[in-house]
Amino acid sequence: MQPAARAQFPQARPRRLRRTEALRRMVRETRLSVDGLIYPVFVVPGADVQVEIQSMPGVYHQSVDRLVEDAREVADLGIPALLLFGLPPSKDWEGTGAWAHDGIVQQALRAVRRAVPSLVLIADTCLCEYTSHGHCGIPGPDDRPGFIDNDRSLELLTRAAVAQAEAGADIIAPSDMLDGRVQAIRSALDARGLVDTVILSYAAKYASAFYGPFREAAESAPQFGDRRGYQMDPPNGREAVREVGYDLAEGADMVMVKPALPYLDVIHAVKTTYPDVPLAAYNVSGEYAMLKAAVAAGWLEERRSVLEALTSIARAGAEMTITYYAKDVARWLTSEAAAEAEGQVVPASSVARASQPVGTGVPNT
Ligand SMILES: [Zn+2]
Repeated sequence: MQPAARAQFPQARPRRLRRTEALRRMVRETRLSVDGLIYPVFVVPGADVQVEIQSMPGVYHQSVDRLVEDAREVADLGIPALLLFGLPPSKDWEGTGAWAHDGIVQQALRAVRRAVPSLVLIADTCLCEYTSHGHCGIPGPDDRPGFIDNDRSLELLTRAAVAQAEAGADIIAPSDMLDGRVQAIRSALDARGLVDTVILSYAAKYASAFYGPFREAAESAPQFGDRRGYQMDPPNGREAVREVGYDLAEGADMVMVKPALPYLDVIHAVKTTYPDVPLAAYNVSGEYAMLKAAVAAGWLEERRSVLEALTSIARAGAEMTITYYAKDVARWLTSEAAAEAEGQVVPASSVARASQPVGTGVPNT
C-alpha cells in the first residue's frame, strides 16, 4: 500500500501537536509504566544489615529481614518484580553456594515468597557471585588461563536454577553467557516437574565497562582474566540477534539485552526481529552511577533525565526495564498520574526550572 500523500509546509506544521501539554499527551508514542519495572536487589548474610554501596547511592547490601521490608515497599509501589543477587558468606572454586539449599538467594526467595506472595521473583542464575575465582563458569586447565569450560559449567548452572526454582523463584534468569545453558536449564527444570518456571535469558549480554559499580555491589570481579571469552563483544549487533535466536530455540520465554543505554540499537534490532517475544533491558550500575554523579554535581535534573533515559529504552523496544531507579520512577509516575487527574500541569517542568544548573551557555546540548 502506498502511503497517503502528505501536506507540506506551510499547510503542514508539526508544531501544532506540541502546543500544549494536553495535546502532547494525546499523541505521545511511548508511555512509561510501573508495570514494566523490575527492581534489582543484593542480599547478604546476617540480620538487620543495610549497607549502602558506595558507587551506587541509594542501593544497599541487605540481609534477608531487611530485604523483606524492602520487598513490601516495592510491592506497595506497584512494581511487579524483584531481581535477586546474592553475596554468600564464603566462596569456593565451584560456587557451591549457588545451589546450596540454604544458599543466600534461596533463603531470600523463601522469605520474600512467604511475606509478599504477589511479587514476581526473578533469580539471577550465575556462578560468579559464588566462585572464588569470580568467573561465571568453571575455569579449564591451567595452561589456558581464563578459559571457561562451557559444558562442565552447565551442570553446575542447572543445579543453581533448580535450587532457585524450588526455593520459590518464578523466573530463572541465566546471566552467564555460556553456550547451551537455556536448553540445559529447561531440561533440568522440567525433569524436576518445574514446568511452570519461566526462563528469562540474558541473551545478549556484553562484556561492558559499565558493570564497574555492580562488581563492587556483587563482589564478583574475576580474580584472573576477564569475561570477554563468553560475554559479547561490544561492537557486535547482528550477533546479538543470533544469540537471541539460539536462546528462543532452546526454550527461553523472555530475553534480555544488557546493558541498555549504550545498546539501544541492539534492543531495537531484537524487538524488530522478534516482535512477539517479551524483551527486557538492564539499565546497569554504570548507567545509574553516571546519572547519580551528574545529579550530585548539579549538572542534571534527576527526575527528567532519568525518565527520559528510561523512556528511550522503552521507545527502542523493551517492555521491561531492570533499573536501580525503579522505586523512584514508580513514585514519580504515580505523582504525575495524580497531578494529571487533578488537571494540574505536570510538575516536572517546574521542578526543572527551579533546579536547572545555570551558566553553561550551551542550551539543548
Ligand atoms: Zn556471572
